[in-house]
This record gives sequence, structure tokens and C-alpha cells, in this order.
Amino acid sequence: MAGVELFGVSKSFGATRVIHNVDLTIEDGEFVVFVGPSGCGKSTLLRMIAGLEDVTSGDLLIGGQRMNHVEAARRGIAMVFQSYALYPHMTVAENMSFGLRMTGVPKAEIEAKVSSAAATLQLEELLARKPAQLSGGQRQRVAIGRAIVRDPGVFLFDEPLSNLDAELRVQMRVEIARLHRGLANTMIYVTHDQTEAMTLADKIVVLRAGRVEQVGSPLSLYEDPANEFVAGFIGSPK
Ligand code: ADP
Ligand code: MG
Repeated sequence: MAGVELFGVSKSFGATRVIHNVDLTIEDGEFVVFVGPSGCGKSTLLRMIAGLEDVTSGDLLIGGQRMNHVEAARRGIAMVFQSYALYPHMTVAENMSFGLRMTGVPKAEIEAKVSSAAATLQLEELLARKPAQLSGGQRQRVAIGRAIVRDPGVFLFDEPLSNLDAELRVQMRVEIARLHRGLANTMIYVTHDQTEAMTLADKIVVLRAGRVEQVGSPLSLYEDPANEFVAGFIGSPK
């Protein structure tokens, strides 16, 4: 059970409040997409859920447990960023297993997890390569593989595809949807790409200036936007 709940969550950097009293329930296994203009607080929300930023006020629960002061490594969360720094001197397999090796997971278990993640992501033929010998899409798959081997209850993606070209973005979007069907864990996905949001999400959260503007299924937001801001964001042609 790894749903995510926010109760009156706010965040300030110094005297500047950037997240205002956010209430949000994300069900276990749900694919939730955060959308909104640059600077509206999408990354800050993800980083608070991940434990990379403190919550200034309010409560953050994961799997029903209050997580406000629990360190990132103990939240059962993995995060994939837009810029996925792989270790250049390590092979794909070593990149994927690095985190597990650091935490002392037995070798046989690591190998099983890496080969299962490699199969899921079609990386089996590439395990012995170094990052420099991979395409952009393959590197991003390794970054996702590195997260999968940790068996996260919750997967966070912060604009993971925005550095890829258009064709690859579509391909990776299909792969991420397939990944979610296979793993069935909770995914929270940030994008400013409306097509990604509409096709991936069970539920879309529209953010504006640190506040939740509307939450709903892609269809409900499309058919019944709460205001012009949401309508402009969801309904506008690409
Ligand atoms: P988004 O991901 O939606 O583009 P962010 O969450 O990165 O937005 O940023 C939300 C707001 O918080 C912005 O105004 C940004 O400048 C500010 N902000 C983000 N991180 C910091 C930080 N570490 N220190 C100060 N301000 C920050
Ligand atoms: Mg961001």
C-alpha cells in the first residue's frame, strides 16, 4: 500500500512561499500527472514527496505513514529526472546495480533484479556497454532501470523525456505506460507536454502558482475545465 496523501502542504524558500496549502490524494497504483506552467511548483512538490526538500507545514503521508521527517532513502520512492547522470566509467549493469551494491544487497539478488529490469526495459543486449556507447533513449532507459531495481512503491518522474527528440519521446511514453501496467505501482509524473499528460494519466493535477487549480481524469478536465486557465492548458492545440 503506497498511496501518497498531502494535507495542507505548504513550502517556503526563505520568506517566499511557493506551495500554498495543497491537499491531494493519490491512490495506490494510480498514475498521476502534474501539469502547469514553468515555476508553478511541480518539481518542488515532487522533491518534497521524495524527501529532497522539507515540508514547511502540513502533512505528507506515504502508504498511510507520516513522512515529514523520514529520510529520502526510507520512503520507498525512486525518482527519475530530466537530466539522468549515469556513471560514465560503469557499464549499464553496474549503473543499474550501484545503489543496491552500496546498501549491501546480496549479489545473487542484485543480479536477479538487474536482469529482470533489463528485460522489462529491453536493455538485455546492452548490459556490458558504457553510457557513451548508448543513444539518448537507451540512456534514459538505464536511468529508469536504476530506479526499478529498487522496487519502489512510488515512482516519481520529473519531465523525464524533455531532453529527447519528438520521435523518441513518443516511444518512451509508450514504454512508460507499459511499465506502469507491468509494475502496477504508484507513479507521479511531471510534464509540460499536454499529450503526455492526456495519454498517461489516470488523474491530472493542474497547478498554478503553487496551488492546485483542478484535479480530475483527462476526460473530465477536457470536457469540464474549472476555469479558463485549465481550459487553456488542457484544451489548447499543441
Ligand atoms: P516547476 O517545476 O513547476 O517549474 P519549481 O518547483 O522548480 O517549478 O519552482 C517553484 C518556485 O519555487 C519557483 O518560483 C522557483 O523559483 C522556486 N524555487 C524552487 N527551488 C528553489 C530553491 N531551492 N530556492 C529558492 N526558490 C526555489
Ligand atoms: Mg520543474
